[in-house]
Amino acid sequence: MTGTTTTPTPGPTLKPMVSIAGVHKFFGEHHVLKGIDMTVKAGEVSVIIGPSGSGKSTLLRCINLLETISAGRIHVHDELIGFKDVNGKLHDLSSKAIAGQRREIGMVFQRFNLFPHMTALQNVIEAPTQVKHQSKAAAKLKALELLEMVGLSDRANFYPAQLSGGQQQRVAIARALAMEPELMLFDEPTSALDPELVGDVLEVMKDLAKSGMTMIVVTHEIGFAREVGDTLTFMDAGVVVESGNPRDIIANPQHHRTKEFLSRVL
Ligand code: ADP
Ligand code: MG
Repeated sequence: MTGTTTTPTPGPTLKPMVSIAGVHKFFGEHHVLKGIDMTVKAGEVSVIIGPSGSGKSTLLRCINLLETISAGRIHVHDELIGFKDVNGKLHDLSSKAIAGQRREIGMVFQRFNLFPHMTALQNVIEAPTQVKHQSKAAAKLKALELLEMVGLSDRANFYPAQLSGGQQQRVAIARALAMEPELMLFDEPTSALDPELVGDVLEVMKDLAKSGMTMIVVTHEIGFAREVGDTLTFMDAGVVVESGNPRDIIANPQHHRTKEFLSRVL
């Protein structure tokens, strides 16, 4: 031992939950991710910002295995979720392993994607009963707890069309949490909302962050990034331009592209 001591810090632990190394993604000839490196530790909130078309959604979709990567490596927990070796041979997980991985990752999209013919409660219990084979009674108990957590206990029996966009988005968050994910991905969860509905959704996300959930959040809400983010990553044209402490980057962006982007959204 060298005699150096480390002081335990509160908050996120040091275990990486997501580790992304040299990830490339092509859609045909279109090179969309150009060597992305990123690490998200367990319990951390990692915020990603960047102009439209910079590859943010594609990156989230690769983490959630909705897309396969063209090169590089992504680990979630300790699981490798697909990579290409030096000979260019793609190593994919079996479909069973992919399903297992995906079950541990919750995703919330810009559009709420609720099942329109199901009530809020039915939306939340669908995956736990169908995929995890939980009993309806147990799933319902848990779902009511989650709906309470997102402030919608009194809307359990409403259909999506009877809910505001912000309420639908909070149901979508409850639905993702019902699978007890270890990682939550948010892809511009408030971008489609009327401004007065944004706050309630961000509040739920903030509570979730406080509860210790590991989260990757793509958003243009710079206030959320500053207040809740442990790290901020600025992406542009398929590369990470700048990454670090959100407060530092927002107050003092190093790269001219980050400066220009922030001046447009702040
Ligand atoms: P962002 O979320 O930052 O706006 P995206 O990841 O959605 O960016 O898109 C990055 C680029 O990849 C865009 O040019 C987009 O048109 C392209 N793209 C995304 N998905 C597909 C796809 N399935 N097929 C072809 N091109 C795609
Ligand atoms: Mg997007």
